[in-house]
Amino acid sequence: MKHTIVLNGCSETFLSQAEEVNGFAAAYLKDSRADKTIIFHCTDRHKPFLIANSPTPSTQLIRLPRYQPEIILRTLEQLEASSNTELYLFPGDFAGSELSPRLAYRLGGSSLIAVNKISRTENALTCHKAVYSNYMQAEFKLSERPYCISLAKGSTDPLPIAVENDVEKDVSEIDIANQEWSNTVLSFKGDQKSEPEKACAHIVDYEFVKKEAASGLENANYILVAGRGVKMKEKVDKLHTIAGQLGAELGVSRPVAMSAWAPLNKLIGVSGIMAKPQICITAAVSGAAAFYTGIEKSKLIIAINTDRGAPIIRASDLAIVDDYEKVLDELVQIITEAQCKGDTSL
Ligand SMILES: Cc1cc2nc3c(=O)[nH]c(=O)nc-3n(C[C@H](O)[C@H](O)[C@H](O)COP(=O)(O)OP(=O)(O)OC[C@H]3O[C@@H](n4cnc5c(N)ncnc54)[C@H](O)[C@@H]3O)c2cc1C
Repeated sequence: MKHTIVLNGCSETFLSQAEEVNGFAAAYLKDSRADKTIIFHCTDRHKPFLIANSPTPSTQLIRLPRYQPEIILRTLEQLEASSNTELYLFPGDFAGSELSPRLAYRLGGSSLIAVNKISRTENALTCHKAVYSNYMQAEFKLSERPYCISLAKGSTDPLPIAVENDVEKDVSEIDIANQEWSNTVLSFKGDQKSEPEKACAHIVDYEFVKKEAASGLENANYILVAGRGVKMKEKVDKLHTIAGQLGAELGVSRPVAMSAWAPLNKLIGVSGIMAKPQICITAAVSGAAAFYTGIEKSKLIIAINTDRGAPIIRASDLAIVDDYEKVLDELVQIITEAQCKGDTSL
């Protein structure tokens, strides 16, 4: 199956997009022919980096005035209308999930977002994705080509791009940054809806505003997670201190983040960070599927919960059925005493 990868080189997340799609292609498109990778970018400065990390030998760089879905879609539509690409692969970020269905609509194809597995059948592409808050795997058959899919966040392990110095990359470039039409679309605002091209626009313009620095949870070796059962912000603050004493990073479940007891960049689960620590201790977390997905790659999961029937008790490697405060206070005391005695093994 001839497939094309589309990446957003205007974003700081370019490398993780490229490695995510590369991992997916290695897992599910081994026998397929990669046509090319199309990379939209906004500055020539990053060109060598983008080319070096393109997942395919053939790369098409398209320079834009700035990241804007309308310009990308119009460019893809023009370039690709006559191509016989069967599958367009987008990463699982916000941009990929917006662009894939909109491109399918424009090219008369079919689309699915948050796909975690694909297989080819005679006249269709069978795609799998998690539904009902990850409780079920659903199978969808896409029948209209081109198939445009975006990936599910964290569904396959990222695969770094192999650097093959002796293989020359085939690179073509298009610069539309100064073309009048690309700037016309840019100047459009929601009150001018008369022209057909403008009337079909969804999101006309947006910018990413970086609010919080990364929390370090993605790469932490040791994580302590606070769940709703801790009951108040002051207790989350106390767990933050305990995490510091244990040499761990603090993470939280969604109710804790949504109650503003901790910043959103501490949220673990499908809506937040997918962690893969050596040790993960959960305190007063029930272990709902949407949360558990964010910690299931941990080497060792230790759950503290007063409810023996909570899902996390079955899903953990070690379960302590007790009050989380009592258990953690004792753990800190044991570690502090051991440290005072010069024992660093804990
Ligand atoms: C589309 C979607 C996406 C979602 N994404 C996420 C996500 O990314 N991350 C996420 O976390 N959730 C997510 N959720 C919500 C998720 O389904 C759960 O509602 C949530 O994870 C529950 O959080 P919790 O375990 O902290 O709270 P609860 O389910 O309320 O569990 C609290 C636990 O604390 C225990 N407890 C109470 N007191 C104590 C005590 N003193 N000592 C020890 N244990 C105690 C209780 O027995 C209970 O098991 C998502 C939901 C949807 C629909």
